[in-house]
Amino acid sequence: DRLVGTDADGEDRAVEAALRPKDLGEFVGQERVREQLDLVLKAARARGATADHVLLSGAPGLGKTTLSMIIAAEMGAPIRITSGPAIQHAGDLAAILSSLTEGEVLFLDEIHRMSRPAEEMLYMAMEDFRVDVIVGKGPGATAIPLELPPFTLVGATTRAGLLPPPLRDRFGFTGHMEFYAPAELQRVVHRSARLLDVEIADQGAAEIAGRSRGTPRIANRLLRRVRDYAQVKADGVITREIAAQALDVYEVDARGLDRLDRAVLTALLKLFGGGPVGLSTLAVAVGEERETVEEVAEPFLVREGLLARTPRGRVATPAAWEHLGLVRDAGAAG
Ligand code: ATP
Repeated sequence: DRLVGTDADGEDRAVEAALRPKDLGEFVGQERVREQLDLVLKAARARGATADHVLLSGAPGLGKTTLSMIIAAEMGAPIRITSGPAIQHAGDLAAILSSLTEGEVLFLDEIHRMSRPAEEMLYMAMEDFRVDVIVGKGPGATAIPLELPPFTLVGATTRAGLLPPPLRDRFGFTGHMEFYAPAELQRVVHRSARLLDVEIADQGAAEIAGRSRGTPRIANRLLRRVRDYAQVKADGVITREIAAQALDVYEVDARGLDRLDRAVLTALLKLFGGGPVGLSTLAVAVGEERETVEEVAEPFLVREGLLARTPRGRVATPAAWEHLGLVRDAGAAG
């Protein structure tokens, strides 16, 4: 339930449907993926064919689900949404595949977490639009081939490298989603504010964008919290000052670090002179589990160039000292 967490919470899910761009033109940023996908879809439409299978890789909250819905909308096709962890048996997948209609888009989130037998069934379905349904057990088992209508699989994964090559190779197009630049997130915030009927100044949107960790889902969530603050503490209009004050209250700092991130960084700087220090020692110092520090706090700190993981331990970068406004003790060992 971190305000800067990347996974969708209940409130996100309720609001996100209303904030989703409906076509490629409305989708902000990701220029390369957008342009390539536009070509893939236009060409398929011109041929009157079903679009090739699409793999989208990227961190949570960057818009993979949104893009899959846009693909369906642009193809004038219905969409079915499921996820790898929901498909534990090949039979689960067979049931979904056999109920698809011609041209339908099947969105498979976290495709890297599908079970092995389901994955193998998917290979054949993607390539030949056919599955073998196994009936019976042991020596008497028989495979009954089942024809499928042509469909478009849109797979989403946090990292394309997690997929076994035979699966990866069956996608006609792979789009890598990048973190968004501040100017792009500013556009996302403006767009969402318009849809939520919130008045916001350019600088207010910029302030929220700068604290959103390159992620539209976080930008939309921060916008909602800032809107609350503007309503209660001011006249409802989001200016730069209001946005900054609100996010200070929620402990999301100017670079998007929250309380946990800052605690890790502060301990590293103040208690260990900037490191190197081992992960376990650092975790004890902030009173958190090792895993929390490693998996929840560190990835963003590393990405921001504030912390480095070295063979000798965790080390703060000069940017970390600067960000926390601390001066390194001149006598400290390197
Ligand atoms: P997850 O992998 O966690 O499901 P995701 O990558 O599928 O995340 P989405 O659910 O598509 O992310 O997007 C999260 C929110 O961010 C949605 O509300 C969507 O409206 C918004 N969003 C994402 N990308 C964009 C974009 N390019 N322009 C405008 N809004 C966007």
